[in-house]
Amino acid sequence: MALIPFDDRDGTIWFNGELIPWRDAQIHVLSHALHYASAVFEGQRAYNDSIFKLEEHTERLFNSARILDFEIPYTEAEINEACNQVKDANGLTDGYFRPVAWRGPEMMGVSAQETKIHVAIAGWEWPSYFSPELREKGIRLSMSEWRRPGPDSAPTKSKAAGLYMICTLSKHAAERDGYEDALMLDYRGQVAEATGANVFFVLDGKIHTPTPDCFLDGITRRTVIDLAKARGYEIIERAIMPEEMEGFEQCFLTGTAAEVTAVGEIGPYSFEVGEITRNLRDDYEKLVRGE
Ligand code: PMP
Repeated sequence: MALIPFDDRDGTIWFNGELIPWRDAQIHVLSHALHYASAVFEGQRAYNDSIFKLEEHTERLFNSARILDFEIPYTEAEINEACNQVKDANGLTDGYFRPVAWRGPEMMGVSAQETKIHVAIAGWEWPSYFSPELREKGIRLSMSEWRRPGPDSAPTKSKAAGLYMICTLSKHAAERDGYEDALMLDYRGQVAEATGANVFFVLDGKIHTPTPDCFLDGITRRTVIDLAKARGYEIIERAIMPEEMEGFEQCFLTGTAAEVTAVGEIGPYSFEVGEITRNLRDDYEKLVRGE
């Protein structure tokens, strides 16, 4: 299937306060964000005509901006409303939504004090991040050579564009080697997360997941932890070393795009798609669809 470029589609995009034709949502080449990564974004999904945890995503967008030292010039309620306008104007009952906020072209240099803050929200249909067959077998992850930086080296609590540079490099290396994604360690050598999703493991009926102290504490991650607790599963958040994967029985990723995705392999380690993974995947699917 030919790719449809994201700048050449029908529909409308919310751009600095109004819905405008999709192809008109343009920015200048000297925008600060393009040169210095002064941009933050969200990824959210609608199921059955409702954007799942919209308020939490909007709150995170505003926090991400504050961490990058800028204020979004709207209220959270206005951004929530704008996301729903994009959903309705584009007829997206099930879709993916991408709010983004960035610094404009008023200044060109490291300092960006006087730049104007822009906000746009686009939405499009997005069935599944990984194919249904892969979701049954479990996806395969390589081990990335890039490490997540520590909180004193990067604004790790922000969903900031710049943090994705090493994610793209990791994912490209994984895809070149025939894997679907990559697992990244952190600056201490502990297991961190995949390139756009959090990671969980199962050992002896208990669920282990890394403490999110240098990577995004995903909204899906927190949702799945609640679902696991509701089923009576024990959740252990702790530092996990890569060698421990040898003994883990199951592994899955969580994320707005990935939902709950079983992992069959990470580098030399293999996992079964077991009952706990399948139960949480089903529980998550029911929850997001409001069933
Ligand atoms: N980590 C990274 C690097 C991500 O890009 C995402 C997706 N936003 C996640 C984790 C999962 O976050 P969420 O569950 O909030 O989508």
